[in-house]
Amino acid sequence: MNYYVNEDIKNTVRVFPEQGRYGYLRYDMNENPEGLPKDFVDAVLREITPEFLSVYPEPDRFLHKYASFIHAGFDNVLATNGSDMGIRYLLETFGERGKEVLTAAPTFEMYGVNCSILGLKHVSVSYEDDLSIKVDHIVNAITEDTRVVVLVNPNNPVGNVYTEDEFQLIAARAKEKGAIVVVDEAYHYFYPNTFLEYALREENVIVLRTFSKLFSLAACRIGVMVSNPRIIQYIKNARLTFDVNAVALLFAEHILDRPELVAELIDAEKEGRAYIRDELEKNGYECRPCEGNYILVKPNLPARKAARILKEQKKILVHTFSNELLKEYLRISTGSVKAMRIFLEAFLEIDRSDDR
Ligand code: PMP
Repeated sequence: MNYYVNEDIKNTVRVFPEQGRYGYLRYDMNENPEGLPKDFVDAVLREITPEFLSVYPEPDRFLHKYASFIHAGFDNVLATNGSDMGIRYLLETFGERGKEVLTAAPTFEMYGVNCSILGLKHVSVSYEDDLSIKVDHIVNAITEDTRVVVLVNPNNPVGNVYTEDEFQLIAARAKEKGAIVVVDEAYHYFYPNTFLEYALREENVIVLRTFSKLFSLAACRIGVMVSNPRIIQYIKNARLTFDVNAVALLFAEHILDRPELVAELIDAEKEGRAYIRDELEKNGYECRPCEGNYILVKPNLPARKAARILKEQKKILVHTFSNELLKEYLRISTGSVKAMRIFLEAFLEIDRSDDR
């Protein structure tokens, strides 16, 4: 039978994340390996009644709260079904078929995937062999054909950040060429700097945040987009009517009500990341310090083999890469010292250099 299928979608190659991860210790997707305190979760669940579940989601109460949490206005913020959905909306709204979306490479893969789905030309500036990135290469790659420039800050998986001067250089060039700048701050709070003030002040800057990382709500699917009211209005035109579910909104709202819990989550991860880095370095490992809730480490064993043994023998999941620049590394999501100690013991046991 002959039916129409969108060529761009037909030709898009997808690799979906592995499933069946519940029984494992999960250090592979930059979630919080331990999750939120159980008493917090139980308290929120008690509010979920038959009436609550029967009503369509109403995001505004959450959005008012979030706006004041980040000292912005209600018309500066929009909730999305994870920042995953935020990325899709942004590229649908500001991408132009055949024109360019600029990213660093490697970076979070959904930027490239959405370019493929939407027929946008994905241009990427590669990291150098030493995993540094040349900001002037990014600046020079912004042309008349660039519609969107994406800066993931800190970048996943490389873990670097852009300084204020570097950001200003890139943003000025993007403005000159009429391009939107998306700053993906999925890993904010693990790294305190932010370009939020630019998103509120400038015509063309958008910040993306997620509740999947520090806030430990990856299952709920909630992200936030922050920009000037005009940009937010364009995205509102593009969005699905009920894209963020009410359970996600409820959990997110309750987290914002608990600043002491947020502070504890930040401290626990910070301590855990410093601990695992120190211990790995003490044991002679080369670690790449990253500004998100992850580290990159070069095992003695080939990386894929180390990951396979961790999974099979220790029920531990870690992330490996096919990218040339990172193929010798494992990416380990970081959490509390307790979570890191469990990883460390297992890792040191399986990664003996004589096993190569
Ligand atoms: N941006 C970056 C940089 C990420 O690493 C991730 C998840 N790994 C996301 C966005 C998507 O997050 P979510 O859809 O869970 O909000």
